Amino acid sequence: MVPTSANPAAATGGDDHYDLVIIGGGPAGYGAALYGAAAGLHVALIEKAKVGGTCLHVGCIPAKELLETAAMRRHVASAAAFGIDATINGVSWSTTLDRKQTVIDQLYKGLSGLLKGRKVTVLDGHGTMAADRSVRVSGGASGDVTVTGDAVALASGSVPRTIPGFEVDGRFVVTSDELLSLPELPASAAVIGGGAIGCEFASMMADLGVEVTVLEALPKILPGCDDDITSTVVRAFKKRKITVKTGVGVTGHTPGASTTTVALADGSTLEVELVVVAVGRAPYTDGLLDAGTGVTVTERGHIAVDDRCRTGVAGVYAIGDVIATPALAHVGFAEGILVVQDLLGEDPAPVDYGRVPWCIYCHPEVAFTGLSEQAAVEAGYEVVVSKHRYIGNGRALILGEPDGMVKVIAAKRPDGTAGQVLGVHMVGPWVTEQLGQAYLAVNWEATVDDIAPFVQPHPTLSELFGETVMALTGRGLHG
Ligand code: NAD
Repeated sequence: MVPTSANPAAATGGDDHYDLVIIGGGPAGYGAALYGAAAGLHVALIEKAKVGGTCLHVGCIPAKELLETAAMRRHVASAAAFGIDATINGVSWSTTLDRKQTVIDQLYKGLSGLLKGRKVTVLDGHGTMAADRSVRVSGGASGDVTVTGDAVALASGSVPRTIPGFEVDGRFVVTSDELLSLPELPASAAVIGGGAIGCEFASMMADLGVEVTVLEALPKILPGCDDDITSTVVRAFKKRKITVKTGVGVTGHTPGASTTTVALADGSTLEVELVVVAVGRAPYTDGLLDAGTGVTVTERGHIAVDDRCRTGVAGVYAIGDVIATPALAHVGFAEGILVVQDLLGEDPAPVDYGRVPWCIYCHPEVAFTGLSEQAAVEAGYEVVVSKHRYIGNGRALILGEPDGMVKVIAAKRPDGTAGQVLGVHMVGPWVTEQLGQAYLAVNWEATVDDIAPFVQPHPTLSELFGETVMALTGRGLHG
């Protein structure tokens, strides 16, 4: 199964035979295509909509663009403190939607160019893998064709989950798909689900003047985050008048003329113009597999794979949101690369899912890698923890964004000192851009002593990471 030539299609003589056939052109799929083509593989990429997938068209990119509009409004609103006399006369939502689309279009053009440049065959249509592992493409501009590959990667992605009682109607109830293109913002919104999507949308809408209530079923929002990080976000949300209700279920809603009334499980109600359902994403496998392929789909709808994304059917891989790994674009990229390396026989190390970077772009931003304090303790570690706040950081004060902290969790050595860095959790200004060195520290399994001597540029936000690590050596400068 492992191709030995760069182009076995030539060997088999078939125009429709590839080294690698990929179904789904999101980050996992196009990542595998670009990386595979860079390694000399002959690749076909099947996409029924536009290459770029959820991330580019209805996910990461548009969401972050709208969050930037929110940030711009916030900055202008605080301009007076800098001596700038500016007045906000309103937000032109259509302008920001146009700008969002311009960013998407530019990236889409760039991606299409990259695929073309690397001679990836992009087939427009719905891909279905048959029992004999051939892949049928239908219903799109490429017409009905069948292609074969030495390897097949299933990268069909995910769709927003919904919940009973909240059918998506595009008017009162939306998911991220619809929210990103709403013709206008509502005056009030209930966001069901306080995960990454829920918090990003809540933050964006609140900054743009929407009265927002987050309804989270679990005891805390951002349930995967360190408790200190979540509390900082909750405090910041409260300051901005975002209502956060945790431990609440929702049972349904009753639409009126211009608002709808959401029924909470505790018997109370909430009247809003819009309900945003952000309760996670479900793997998408509709029409992906004919009967008899041998590929296992789990009860939750994910494709079952081993730690190298192999499905158990020789030469068939699954990557990205369709498997039960963190639903993050960069995890999709990593899995795409892993698959290419595996099929080239390069014996790659599996993706270390417990240490991937996480970035959430609400205000304040959240970024983390590795174990939270609670998860480290649950995993049986004795830990030493250091926390430093941006209020003591020069750059943060210059920016006017003092809310937030860096928290480093290290394993406790037998002598009580701090050893290996197990996790780094950040909340505050631009932390999504500061996670890099923390990611390296955790994934290189560095100890506090390894990295404490590294010099941090001054004045920067990233000094706070250095300060927090240095404090774990028992000495520090400012902390
Ligand atoms: P999520 O799983 O991160 O969060 C969903 C939240 O909804 C959870 O906190 C859950 O407890 C809550 N919930 C579920 N059912 C509920 C109910 N009936 N009532 C109230 N609360 C309920 O999912 P998401 O935020 O929708 O994001 C989907 C995926 O996309 C995730 O895997 C996420 O990591 C990824 N994503 C990541 C980013 C980012 O990292 N910046 C941004 C967007 C999406």
